[in-house]
Amino acid sequence: MTKPLITGRTQLLGVIGHPVEHSLSPLMHNAALAQLGLDYIYLPFPIKPENLEVAIAGFAAINVVGFSVTIPLKQAIMPLLSEITPTARAIGAVNTVSRQNNQWVGTNTDIEGFIAPLQTTYQQDWSQKIAVVLGNGGAARAVVAGCQQLGFAQIHVVGRNMQKLVEFRNSWGNSPLAEKLQVHIWDDLAQLISSADLLVNTTPVGMYPQMNDSPVSVEDMQKLSPSAIAYDLIYIPHATQFLQQAQKQGAIAINGLEMLVQQGVAALKIWLQRETLPVDVMRQALRQHLLGKS
Ligand code: NAP
Repeated sequence: MTKPLITGRTQLLGVIGHPVEHSLSPLMHNAALAQLGLDYIYLPFPIKPENLEVAIAGFAAINVVGFSVTIPLKQAIMPLLSEITPTARAIGAVNTVSRQNNQWVGTNTDIEGFIAPLQTTYQQDWSQKIAVVLGNGGAARAVVAGCQQLGFAQIHVVGRNMQKLVEFRNSWGNSPLAEKLQVHIWDDLAQLISSADLLVNTTPVGMYPQMNDSPVSVEDMQKLSPSAIAYDLIYIPHATQFLQQAQKQGAIAINGLEMLVQQGVAALKIWLQRETLPVDVMRQALRQHLLGKS
């Protein structure tokens, strides 16, 4: 990629978090901006939670167009925004902020990212299908909201702490999603797994460098249907133990790279106010960077 030319008119985008040095977003977004020939740059902004308010005020003062939000600021940013989309409210976290009419508007593009491969490459009628989601953290919230959006009949969330699971369940109140949602402790997975049409790993188990680990035992994975889809949100390594085990069963395997690309695409569409983006260039920039890390 050629280095972007900074001019007196260059407009600012970026990612806030702490730390942000491992974020792949600058790579992906700057590749797209360069391809489009736009006078924008996307920068990493390491911001400690205690400095968030002053940083955001500074962003307004220097006309930052928008920014991504990563750990640990996804919730902390919310009180500093003028508007939060219903999607982000439902998930309880903001990953994308844009400046609209001199106000900060927050949304969450992780749902769009998660459902993208299920809506395109593996598109089908989900209305009779069962989703089993491993983990009940931040990403799991986007995943269950995505499963609800796709129309799954049942959504089962499996976790290791019953109190957190109950809180997770209760956080959806009496919404239509809550009617389809059941929570289970890990011991129940052995029984649940054979009914899964979609099995999603939202835990970090199996992520680099712990690449020999899997959230599912070999024995339990043998109960997965060959017609199921196994989806791991992890993208390093490319094929986690979890996905390799599922593929041995004959299941389709999806890793987290496309989710990462598509949540970025959705964010860039908002900031640039344009529908067409060089998605292949964004995907390729990440793939090239990740080459050799899997
Ligand atoms: P998080 O909020 O910390 O949640 C992690 C969840 O995993 C929690 O429910 C946690 O359980 C559970 N967990 C952690 N270690 C576990 C273990 N050893 N055994 C069983 N469960 C365990 O993290 P997150 O933000 O949801 O992210 C989770 C994963 O998704 C990370 O690998 C992240 O990189 C990935 N992710 C990918 C994308 C993408 O675009 N591809 C987007 C977002 C996240 P407790 O609640 O009991 O602690």
